[in-house]
Amino acid sequence: MTGHFKTEAIVLKSMDYGESDRIITFYTLEFGKVKGIAKGARNSKKRFVNNLEPFSYINLLFFQKQGRDLVIVEQAEVIRRFDTLTADLERFAFACYCLELLNEMTLEEQKNIKVFELLVKFLIMLNGGAGIKTIVMFFQIKLFSLLGYYPHLDTCIVCKNIPTDDNKVFFSTARSGILCFVCGDQEKSLIPVSQGTVKFLILAARIDIEKAERIDMAEWAAKECEKVIGDFIIHHLGKELKSKKFLEKITE
Ligand SMILES: [Zn+2]
Repeated sequence: MTGHFKTEAIVLKSMDYGESDRIITFYTLEFGKVKGIAKGARNSKKRFVNNLEPFSYINLLFFQKQGRDLVIVEQAEVIRRFDTLTADLERFAFACYCLELLNEMTLEEQKNIKVFELLVKFLIMLNGGAGIKTIVMFFQIKLFSLLGYYPHLDTCIVCKNIPTDDNKVFFSTARSGILCFVCGDQEKSLIPVSQGTVKFLILAARIDIEKAERIDMAEWAAKECEKVIGDFIIHHLGKELKSKKFLEKITE
């Protein structure tokens, strides 16, 4: 595909390149993840202002030439600014973490409008002062679900029974699902979780992220969810996210 294209985009990552250029990774509405070069972006501040910094929500104009890895960024007009995110260190750290997760979990040029919409809503809410932990958890669960990594949570993956309400269940990262109290007893490296946590995971995947604020989560349930999500990420990416360390330092 060669030509000029225009689409809404969020800047995921931006880094200096050579004397005056910047290499930028976008998540776009029309084309999914796109990597591009903004020539002279560091010298001619007028051209791109600060619209190529992470979290920028822009109208992106780019030129793509068949066979080239990077598109050429031609114009970046701001649609909306998320100033609170860059001013509040904790919100900034969580936003960096979620952007890195999205970047790592997606391949270039695989369009997914729902992922783009989730990202925009998430940034608007985080910037608008929404409760950080619940909304970050919602973002991660919904992202996995939209990218097709949703675990099997309704029934035990071994015996297929619906676990009874009064027992704990186990989450298997390797097998991507839950095991009931009986079947889980036989296996190693499982994460014990309450049924309330399982219900939260199911709910978060299903309802709109804008409803996240209505969900009240106990501290222990949040910890269980974080453990399940954290192990899930390491299993799928084969590594820890870089921004996780930064995040841990800030939230200590
Ligand atoms: Zn079972």
